[in-house]
Amino acid sequence: MIYLDYQATTPLAPEAREAMLPWLAGPEAMRFANPHSAHVPGRAARAAVELAREQVAALLPPGGRVVFTSGASEAINLAIHGLGVKRIALSPIEHAAVIDTARASGAMLDWLPVGADGLVPADAPVVAGTGLVALMQVNNEIGTVQPVAEVTARARTAGALVLCDAVQGAGKLAAPDADLIALSAHKLCGPKGIGALWVRDGVVLAPLIHGGGQEGGLRAGTLSPALCAGFGAAAELCTKLMKDDAQHVDQLWETACALLPDWQLNGSATQRWRGNLSLRRDGLDAARLLSECRGLAISAGSACASGSGRPSHVLQAIGLTGPQAKGSIRLGFGRYTTRREVEDACAMLNAAAAAQGV
Ligand code: PLP
Repeated sequence: MIYLDYQATTPLAPEAREAMLPWLAGPEAMRFANPHSAHVPGRAARAAVELAREQVAALLPPGGRVVFTSGASEAINLAIHGLGVKRIALSPIEHAAVIDTARASGAMLDWLPVGADGLVPADAPVVAGTGLVALMQVNNEIGTVQPVAEVTARARTAGALVLCDAVQGAGKLAAPDADLIALSAHKLCGPKGIGALWVRDGVVLAPLIHGGGQEGGLRAGTLSPALCAGFGAAAELCTKLMKDDAQHVDQLWETACALLPDWQLNGSATQRWRGNLSLRRDGLDAARLLSECRGLAISAGSACASGSGRPSHVLQAIGLTGPQAKGSIRLGFGRYTTRREVEDACAMLNAAAAAQGV
């Protein structure tokens, strides 16, 4: 099986697995204690959690704190519901975790413009009275890198805070400039079931989950030292390998683009994370292609959108027609993808498209 779906999830880094194993290993109290207990084994577990917090914080700006959550969806819910503002400006290409939470918050929504290149303009207007601007760092479907710094500057002038969904950019790009940043471990070669919300000092949130007062009162519930340790180790590896990972991804991108000359790119060719290759072909039935390429794990649009059967809101927002969206696929590669896998995948895709006569 060739796995080219790195935007849906990534393989667990061996280093992250190693960091997790001691906390899953056994009957000794030092291996399973509650990190919120005051006794010696509890404090040892707490130390592992705090080391992980520092490792994750190294991916983020100074001047804030990391709150562990179950994943980015929860982090985004905590940010939006926790702020409780009355007016939110957001891009129409945000992940459903942002769009649906903003809708559920009851706030008035203003939609930022987005171009056919999949980019929100750097001078997108933020009107006075806006409480929060939500703009993602890297789009999960088409890979475009949004002008977060510029939009944040305009938001600040308008007196608004900024939430950046950095799920697809964290560990790959420098941290975005924002007031609240959502991350997910499983998108950066960490375990599933843990994420984080970075909260700038001075930003006041109400908790979403009430109970034992963990995470500074912002998120009740016993943390898993194993998940925290895996997240921390994965984050540390990203810090160490960021340049090498980007170079590797660039090489895979060049290989794939050279082998897929008859496919059109969705989204900007320059302002993008090159580990996301969103492509289309006129007349292609992407769903059929996916079922025919059984040895290939790729996605037609985002994993969430393909599961729901809804047309991708991102491909619609950048102006693709229904048939163009239906003819789109997404290849996602990263640290553990080999050149050979990309070459074999491209051969399969070209053969499957040819079999459809397109
Ligand atoms: N935001 C983006 C851009 C994503 O790609 C995803 C996952 O697909 C999420 C949010 C939700 O992340 P999680 O699975 O950690 O809840």
